[in-house]
Amino acid sequence: MEIVSQSSDEKIQEKSENESKPEIKYFKCCVCILNEKYEYFGKSPPWVRDYKLEEDAYIIEDPFLPPKRGEFLILGAHCVKCGLAVCKDTNCSFYYIGTYCIKCAKQCSKEFPNAVQEKLNRIIVPL
Ligand SMILES: [Zn+2]
Ligand SMILES: [Zn+2]
Repeated sequence: MEIVSQSSDEKIQEKSENESKPEIKYFKCCVCILNEKYEYFGKSPPWVRDYKLEEDAYIIEDPFLPPKRGEFLILGAHCVKCGLAVCKDTNCSFYYIGTYCIKCAKQCSKEFPNAVQEKLNRIIVPL
């Protein structure tokens, strides 16, 4: 019985530590070397009102503006094909209905309309 009560006490301590020190989460792009701290992942960041994103995205408050202005930057999202996180750099991801990493976009470019394919063909994928 003593052991049980001890372990539950430990759990409570762990929990309160986590609450006081929020874990820093990093967004990593699967194409480039971007490795950036992000503040929110989802469709509606808590500090942005009346706006909902079309897809779950990694978001930070705009670092060039004073905080709590409701401005934000989208770091990246998950590729709809392979599910890997990819940044919004034009050389890393391609947006057509959803976010594609550039590798998947190139692979399934034939499924896209011609105008979209042309746009995609102008992006050169580094090897
Ligand atoms: Zn990237
Ligand atoms: Zn992909």
